[in-house]
Order: sequence, then C-alpha cells, then structure tokens
Amino acid sequence: MKNKTNYIWHNGKFVHWDEAKIHVLTHSLHYGAATFEGIRCYNTDRGPAVFRLRDHFKRLFYSASVIDMKIPYSLEELETATLDLISKNKITECYIRPIAYYGYGKMGVNPQGAPVEIAIACWGWDKYMTHKLVDMKTNKYIRIPSVVSITDAKLSGNYLNSILGILQLQGTDYHETLFLDLNGNIAEGAAENIFFIKNGVLHTPKLGGILAGITRDTVMTLAKKMGLKVIEAKLSLQEAYLADEAFLTGTAIEIKPIRSIDDKIIGKGETGIITIDLQQSYLEVVHGKNKDFFHYLAFLK
Ligand code: PMP
Repeated sequence: MKNKTNYIWHNGKFVHWDEAKIHVLTHSLHYGAATFEGIRCYNTDRGPAVFRLRDHFKRLFYSASVIDMKIPYSLEELETATLDLISKNKITECYIRPIAYYGYGKMGVNPQGAPVEIAIACWGWDKYMTHKLVDMKTNKYIRIPSVVSITDAKLSGNYLNSILGILQLQGTDYHETLFLDLNGNIAEGAAENIFFIKNGVLHTPKLGGILAGITRDTVMTLAKKMGLKVIEAKLSLQEAYLADEAFLTGTAIEIKPIRSIDDKIIGKGETGIITIDLQQSYLEVVHGKNKDFFHYLAFLK
C-alpha cells in the first residue's frame, strides 16, 4: 500500500505495519460484522490535531453495540492510542482508520463467542477524490432501508451496498454514485452525505436511513453560524436536479462540490458561492484557525 507508516496499534500494542496480521478464519472477514471509523488529523499552529476524535469513537461504540460487540478498551484508551500512534509514526496530517471486529476462534454466522479485536492504522491520504467537481449517477440499488440493516451504524457489512453502487460506475465517466431510499428520495453517496442549496437555504436528507455523518453535523453547525437556514427533510430527485448548488460531505472527501447528477447540471456547473464559503470555513476549523471550534480538536500530547 502507498503511504504506509511504521506502526499500527493492534489489540493494545504498537506493531510494525507489515506485522499487523489476522487469521483467514477471522469471523468478521466472512460475515461482515465489524465496525470502523474514518478520522482525519490536520496540522495546526499548535501541532497536529485530530478532528472530532471523541465523536468518531462514540459512533464506533454505538456501531459496536448494535452488533452486540463489547470493545475491550475504553473510549479514553482508544483516544490515547490514536494520539500516541500518530506521534510514534511522526506524521502531521493523516487519515485514521480504527476497526473493531470479531476475530478468529469460531465459525458460524452468530458472532457471539468470537474474540473482539481492534486495530488503529493511520497514513497520509491527501485527496479521497482528485476531481474538483463531482459528476454523480443515481444507482439502480437503493440505500439499505432501516428495516433491513442498521444504517446509522458504520458497519462493514453495510458497505456491500456502497460497493455494488460504485462498481456500476465502471466504464463510465461518473465519479460517484447517488443512492435513493426505498421511497425514491435522496439518501446519500457511497461514503458521503449530500447537501443541496436552493435560494440560499441548505437542504439535506433527514437522519433515519443514512449515516449520521460527523462532517454533515459540522457543516450544519457552520452554516447556522453563518446565518444560513438548514432544513433536514425528505428530498426528491427532481428537487435535487433543480438545486442552485450541491455538495458531498465526509471525513475523507471533506466538502466536495457536485457538478451534475444524471447528466443534469446543478446550478452553473461550478463550485457555488455558499459552497466556497463553507469549504473555507471548514478548512479553517480543522486547521485550528477558528477558536470557537477548538473543542473539536484533540492535540497530540
Ligand atoms: N455516509 C456514509 C455511507 C459514509 O461511509 C460516510 C463516511 N464515514 C459518510 C456518510 C460521512 O460521514 P463522516 O462525515 O462522519 O465521515
């Protein structure tokens, strides 16, 4: 893998990157009952700081609870492990990937009785998507409805739906897939939440059948602080096509403007002015340039 670092934290120990291994009969590898996070660390004037570390680990514990997984570390221990890992890897900006999984010990679909293991890795991952603007295509698969799985938990198995959606883009010029829900309303991207702006008002699908994105929450907070109205509601595809601006949000992708959906150009087909303001404001916050949001930052010790 590109950009690998020296160490991975695995079950309480720092091990060399190439030694962080698991058995092929690891339970979660077979049945998908694992939970992971995607977190970013940014450089600031006061040194590297992890953005909303506590919120990410809270979500990890929530996701673990829905599959009856008892993580054998406290939230504080995992926070410390993450910060120490970044220091030990001598990296100032990175993507951080914790994963908690059912390990090796038993087979059969029921995970109860398999050991719970956890690893945290970090590496430099500058751009998740290199295009400045995203062309999206609606998916023939719908987002997993909440009567089928628990979609507000970040469970590995839920990503099969995302993978099937992304694979449909092969051989096309689209960059990202757009999932609709069971009723044909907008849900989210394969690994991003979505926002639309119409007449200066932000619209985003309400929680329920989507991941409660931490970037989504940050963007809503920033928008309200900027005096913008934010509406969380059902959104039809027709409304989406007619938006003035649209963008995706996610820890990896940050705030990414959308140029088109299903070949219909959104607004002027360029990054909208409100999107630019939000992007700028987001980057200031994560880089520790806005003291009102210092509480979002976990500095290395
Ligand atoms: N939806 C899905 C399905 C995702 O995988 C992600 C990435 N974690 C998001 C939304 C955005 O979440 P966040 O802003 O917390 O990274």
